[in-house]
Amino acid sequence: MSKKVRVRFAPSPTGGLHLGGVRTVLYNYLFAKKHGGEFVVRIEDTDQSRYVPGAEEYIFDCLRWCGLEPDESVQHGGPYGPYRQSERKALYKKYAEQLVEAGHAYYAFDSAAELEQMREKYKSAENPAPQYDHHLRMKMRNSLTIPADETKKLLEANTPYVVRIKMPVGKTVSFNDMIRGEVSFDTSLVDDKVLLKADGMPTYHLAVVVDDYLMKITHAFRGEEWLPSAPVHLLLWQYLFGWEAMPQWAHFPLILGPSGKLSKRDGAKYGFPVFAMNWQDLKTGESTEGFREKGFLPAAFINLLALLGWNDGTEKEVFSKEELISSFDMARVHSSGAKFDYEKAKWFNHEWIKRTSASELLPLVRANFEKVNVVVTDSMLLEQVIALVKERCTLLTDFVEQGSFFFSRPAQIDTASIVPKWNAEKSAFFDQLIQHYQQANPWTTGELEKICKELAQEKQLKTGELLLPLRIMLVGGKFGPGVFDIAYLLGKEETVERLTQAKRLILQGA
Ligand code: GLU
Repeated sequence: MSKKVRVRFAPSPTGGLHLGGVRTVLYNYLFAKKHGGEFVVRIEDTDQSRYVPGAEEYIFDCLRWCGLEPDESVQHGGPYGPYRQSERKALYKKYAEQLVEAGHAYYAFDSAAELEQMREKYKSAENPAPQYDHHLRMKMRNSLTIPADETKKLLEANTPYVVRIKMPVGKTVSFNDMIRGEVSFDTSLVDDKVLLKADGMPTYHLAVVVDDYLMKITHAFRGEEWLPSAPVHLLLWQYLFGWEAMPQWAHFPLILGPSGKLSKRDGAKYGFPVFAMNWQDLKTGESTEGFREKGFLPAAFINLLALLGWNDGTEKEVFSKEELISSFDMARVHSSGAKFDYEKAKWFNHEWIKRTSASELLPLVRANFEKVNVVVTDSMLLEQVIALVKERCTLLTDFVEQGSFFFSRPAQIDTASIVPKWNAEKSAFFDQLIQHYQQANPWTTGELEKICKELAQEKQLKTGELLLPLRIMLVGGKFGPGVFDIAYLLGKEETVERLTQAKRLILQGA
């Protein structure tokens, strides 16, 4: 019987959640759901200096918004907790000691100043940043160079130390990446990474291996920026638990921006979001816009992320979450970087706005209206408005321009676009139109259009020249759905009132 699939997302709570992070979550989630497995979120907070208040809750809020709810986590509980590495601190030391005893790791007592001296002393043109590795380890203050009894004394005297892995010289380690196939590393090229820090906390390298083991992770997927750490992890797996126990790995390609890896700076420069949701860094005070606040639907967001690095082998692009679960296949994840295209991202959102019912969109549109102080009391009307304008909206925020004028009179009327072409004939036309509309019965889109067209004909005016002023008079500017649909939904009283007031303004300007 094959093991139950268990995957994990292991974020460090150090800031906003980048869309690449959400894509990692998504691929983990899809893989887990497809194979009837479990999706674990583990908080990797062993680097206390990088801790940012609020970042952990924010990550969970983002996952909730995306609809990618974990099965086990700090917030969801589960049998393999605690799910926050800082709370597992006591657990890692024995593995570090086991490695030292077996000769795979050593205690290093070098102070910060000594490390700095080493870097200065061995710096050369070919090696501008010397590392603590097999070339230098025997020149440093560690349990390989200090006699055993002295090391013991230092430890007993509580001398600060770190535990470093002793990278073997000239060995090749390799693994089979589910996306890239066989990947090999020369262990001589990797430095002796710290595994346990002076404060007793493990580093990521030790903690990730120990926890993937203890949490019975069967598949570990992460971004390709972690590939260089793979040789260290491979050796730790071999030394501590045996390679057979190792999860299957996959490293996802980078998401590329206009110049290299997509960054927060690209977003700021080109005006698109890079984080899932708005993020305010309490340490730096910096705030960054998110896809949610920009007006994206979660369904569109996960759809566009899924397609950044994967496709199902056909031309199909619009996938619901359920469709993604059934079609997702790790073998079809690309190994090369995927370019983020904001115009394409908006296209996905537009597709999802069209596909989402007006009643589902209603609370989201209402919230966007409230942000600009437009209060909706008539939900039935709002639903009708949404149904009427959603084809025109790419972002949820577009509903404000396309539809909030139904609920609040335009603060400004763009009379400047009307006045230059205004004349006595048009003035007379609108006077009569107002009168006819007062008498209109039934009040339907078709009837309102008929009245307007017949009157134009009678006055020998071109309808084309009348529709724009009519629109501006009703909504304030050159936007919105069909003008007779607008009048119909505004109702007789409001339509007549707006036309009358706007006409007065035009006359003042003409
Ligand atoms: N804590 C790492 C990060 O912040 C996790 C990498 C992994 O998934 O192994 O991305």
